[in-house]
Amino acid sequence: MESTFTWPESSTITVKCENCTNPNSPDLKFCPNCSFPVGGADEEKSQFRIRIIRNKQLIKVAKEKIQTAKIIMYVLAGLTFLMGVYQGFGQDDFSGLIINCILALLYLIMIAWADKNPFAATLSVFILYVTVNLANAFFYPATLFSGIILKIIVIVGLIKGIKSAKEAQDSLNELEKVKAATNRDR
Ligand SMILES: [Zn+2]
Repeated sequence: MESTFTWPESSTITVKCENCTNPNSPDLKFCPNCSFPVGGADEEKSQFRIRIIRNKQLIKVAKEKIQTAKIIMYVLAGLTFLMGVYQGFGQDDFSGLIINCILALLYLIMIAWADKNPFAATLSVFILYVTVNLANAFFYPATLFSGIILKIIVIVGLIKGIKSAKEAQDSLNELEKVKAATNRDR
């Protein structure tokens, strides 16, 4: 009598990943979709879950801190643009208009860079702002103290932004480390 039983092909047997429900082959150690240690011990699995919660917190912290730094830099970019408009149309100083518009544009480029490199971007904005003011004061010493209160407010704001960006950068760096460690374990 012929046996009708046939072994199922190994590729048709799947085990759902406990983390993302991706159907995986049962001999896998890690889910190819989410890196969950499907073939690992319970301890590895719980460590993975703890790591996901921690990663989410790191991302949340980084996003909030980057947002704070960006708002401060947007305010500076806006003020710079308004200053250009005032110089250009209020004082007929069109070179002032152009210079301030270029500066505002540079700030916007650095703000866009802040999502990936918050610390370097905010520090660059700070250095650019201070350099421009020092250069201005060198060529036109009288300008050093004009709007000094606003300048101090901007510098204090930027320092706050740098601190915030540094904290965001620390979170991003820790995330990178976790990612690298996960890839190494696989
Ligand atoms: Zn998965």
